Amino acid sequence: MPTHLVWFRADLRVHDNIALAAACRAKDARVLGLFIATPGQWQEHEMAPRQAAFLNAHLNDLQQALAEKGIPLLYEEVSDFAAQAQKVQEICEKQDVTHLFYNYQYEFNEQQRDRQLEKALDVVVCQGFDDSVMLPPGSVMTGSREMYKVFTPFKNAFIKRLKESLPECVAAPSARGDALTDLPELTFDYPQKDFDEALFPATEKAAIAQLRSFCKHGAAEYEARRDFPAVDGTSRLSACLALGVLSPRQCLHRLLAEQPRALEGEGGAVWLNELIWREFYRHLMTYHPALCKHRPFIRWTDKVSWQHNDKHLKAWQDGATGYPIVDAAMRQLNETGWMHNRLRMITASFLVKDLLIDWRIGERYFISQLIDGDLAANNGGWQWAASTGTDAAPYFRIFNPTTQGQKFDADGEFIRRWLPELKDVPAKAVHEPWAWAEKQGVTLDYPRPIVDHKQARVATLAAYEAARKD
Ligand code: FAD
Repeated sequence: MPTHLVWFRADLRVHDNIALAAACRAKDARVLGLFIATPGQWQEHEMAPRQAAFLNAHLNDLQQALAEKGIPLLYEEVSDFAAQAQKVQEICEKQDVTHLFYNYQYEFNEQQRDRQLEKALDVVVCQGFDDSVMLPPGSVMTGSREMYKVFTPFKNAFIKRLKESLPECVAAPSARGDALTDLPELTFDYPQKDFDEALFPATEKAAIAQLRSFCKHGAAEYEARRDFPAVDGTSRLSACLALGVLSPRQCLHRLLAEQPRALEGEGGAVWLNELIWREFYRHLMTYHPALCKHRPFIRWTDKVSWQHNDKHLKAWQDGATGYPIVDAAMRQLNETGWMHNRLRMITASFLVKDLLIDWRIGERYFISQLIDGDLAANNGGWQWAASTGTDAAPYFRIFNPTTQGQKFDADGEFIRRWLPELKDVPAKAVHEPWAWAEKQGVTLDYPRPIVDHKQARVATLAAYEAARKD
């Protein structure tokens, strides 16, 4: 009897899991699942303890879901990718594995690991699948077979492809035997921090329910609500998409079930755009592996003379810059592991363009805190904000943190939620509380701005200009 081993990595789900479905297609095969934790590798990449806790919860949920179908999940813990590949080989030998199934990961190290493993496993048939995307990298290219460098034409070509043929979802496998019981509690040796299960669903079933609810009640209003951090206007599914608890195809089909005109640019189209941004960054990373090594896409930007100022960096990290919208956002990140997209843009811009601190330091800090940490999306977002990437905002376009706050949190509702020290400051004054405090003759337990935005802007423009001319 053939033995099919499904190696789960960033695809912790049983529904629409292409590798799992392929492994279960042969009725006569023995199917085993496998997950190998790599705390050493995670440490090196500074994976956030909240993401580790989220992953741990979903690992146990996956074990349970597989067990109900009679599929055991083998669990191993090793330090890094090299040991991981070695472990897969050992398991293949020990379990007489004939076929190895897995879904591709597009990051550089992961791709290298898989290639080497495939070579080493010469008697095992290895099958990889494009599962974490709607359309495989390389399938949406310019007329001259190049990867797009700008989002909008990529999106237009992507939607054209979707209209030609929608990627199907595959069903969860049916039971292959009696349900397995007495499952061990799986825990890996990596720091974990509790996450809010009401915001980030801890089971696949809850994730599907959240997707259904968002598509039914939130997708049509998304365009109007998505930019205001005080409003619960986005799906909060990023943590699930990053670990593969949901697939983008499930998102697409659920959206179209509720919003059938989304592909035509109507209701829900703007949410679909965001899912396509996710694809854009994944495709880019596959095509330009240097992005995984934190190289800027625009080479001259590597010559910007960044400031090294630990006090400024710490103030940014702690939410103590004196700019309320930046500080409230950083506290949301530190306390929940998630930050609203508009605020990710504002805080990233502030670090790079007001403090002139290297975007890679911010990129790393985000990963160390985010429950939805995702190399491609995070790198893409940071390079966008720093004007170093594809489709980046030009370097001379610099967010003003005060007017951004006034525009997107006009009444300061979000700011006051995260900065209790400003709870008594009136709505209109909350974006410049120091000015209000001076007028009133009161003392606030809140810092004055650590930099003057106007001056910082001039210095940043000069630094980018000098790098460009160099
Ligand atoms: P929704 O608005 O509901 O969007 C739906 C899904 O689309 C998201 O769950 C996400 O998977 C995807 N998505 C949305 N916006 C983007 C985008 N701009 N780029 C790529 N994918 C997108 N997203 C991450 O998933 N992980 C990260 O590590 C990450 N880091 C970021 C860093 C910076 C500096 C910036 C500007 C953006 C970053 N993003 C990241 C993108 C975006 O901010 C989050 O995906 C979004 O805020 C998650 O909330 P949501 O699930 O409610 O999104």
